[in-house]
Amino acid sequence: MKVAIPKERAPDEHRVALVPDTAAKLKAASLEVSVESGAGEGAFIPDSAFEAAGVNVVKAAGPLLGDADAVLKVQAPMIEEVGLLKSGSVLISFLQPSTQADVVRALAKRGVTAFSLELLPRISRAQSMDALSSQASAAGYKAVLMAAGRLGKFFPMMMTAAGTVPPARVLVMGAGVAGLQAIATARRLGAVVSAYDVRPAVKEEVQSLGATFIELALESQQGEGGYAREQSEEFLRKQRELIGEHVAKSDVVITTAAVPGRRAPLLVTGDMVKAMRPGSVVVDLAADTGGNVELTQAGKDLDVGGVTIIGTRNVPSTMPLHASQLFARNVMNLLLHLVKDGAITLDFQDEITKGSCVTHGGEIVNERAKQLLAPAS
Ligand code: NAD
Repeated sequence: MKVAIPKERAPDEHRVALVPDTAAKLKAASLEVSVESGAGEGAFIPDSAFEAAGVNVVKAAGPLLGDADAVLKVQAPMIEEVGLLKSGSVLISFLQPSTQADVVRALAKRGVTAFSLELLPRISRAQSMDALSSQASAAGYKAVLMAAGRLGKFFPMMMTAAGTVPPARVLVMGAGVAGLQAIATARRLGAVVSAYDVRPAVKEEVQSLGATFIELALESQQGEGGYAREQSEEFLRKQRELIGEHVAKSDVVITTAAVPGRRAPLLVTGDMVKAMRPGSVVVDLAADTGGNVELTQAGKDLDVGGVTIIGTRNVPSTMPLHASQLFARNVMNLLLHLVKDGAITLDFQDEITKGSCVTHGGEIVNERAKQLLAPAS
């Protein structure tokens, strides 16, 4: 069975779905592994490192993909790439079914069996395959470093001969995987951290990291599968009113709030940013999905009355080596889950296979993907 890893073609995507360590494990499972020349460059992995791990390095994507039984990728393929895939082959990548409807339909038409990492069930058995979590951790960590790099203040309290400097105050909104990693990182740097989430269930996790959990007089918005449910505009309006004073006294605000398959909820208005002290920094990790901050411009840093709003897209790609290492392990584990005795063997009774498979046998087979493909109501 042949496994191929093409170079990512999306702009500013530096990650790759294979690292030498996972190549060696795939080979140990009797799979033949090929990579497109230069695929690892953005993550500082030269072709020679893949060759040393026994990987074939192929010059062009066409022959590589046309010959592959399984393709591992980070981003959803572009329509042109779908045309290069072999009918009956398996694809594992992020697919963003809510925004990539054309690609999903093209994959079905091409007869590709495509697995979307976003739809992988978040059950204990699937934790080693959970790329949403591994990449969210990278984003949460990096968000704090971006903020610290822009803040004109120290994060920790500093006691020096020239006097004592108080610690920075960091507010994290959304305490899922990215938010918890941001809290842990900001704490390690010595900041005083508080956090808020619409799911009160995260209170203990937040506190165990040494942060204060902000409780607002609002009802829980706990939805299914550990996620938040979609919130009404009325709820979000009340939330903004109540969280405003916490935003105003923070040096750094990191927003990570998301509801699967929906536009990111609006947590911080322009007026709330304007009420922050000049020199403060806001990092909006939801910039790619509409932003948690009203003024965010995806892919840009803005100055609003001396407050910096950072809207970097695809934050995990800005630390490509470790993000690729974790991602490559996630997709390797999912692929090996689908392989029995050196061949793809699909068991649609299995919760992981059924939950993450989007297209198979020329059809869109996943109920969640079908809902996400329909325009959001
Ligand atoms: P996510 O990226 O969808 O959302 C990030 C956070 O934003 C969530 O905590 C959500 O509650 C919060 N949020 C939504 N609307 C908000 C608002 N208006 N204000 C403030 N916060 C808001 O979620 P995620 O980080 O991918 O995962 C969320 C949860 O899923 C985890 O905390 C965990 O409980 C569960 N999970 C389970 C597993 C597993 O069992 N394998 C793996 C990963 C995550």
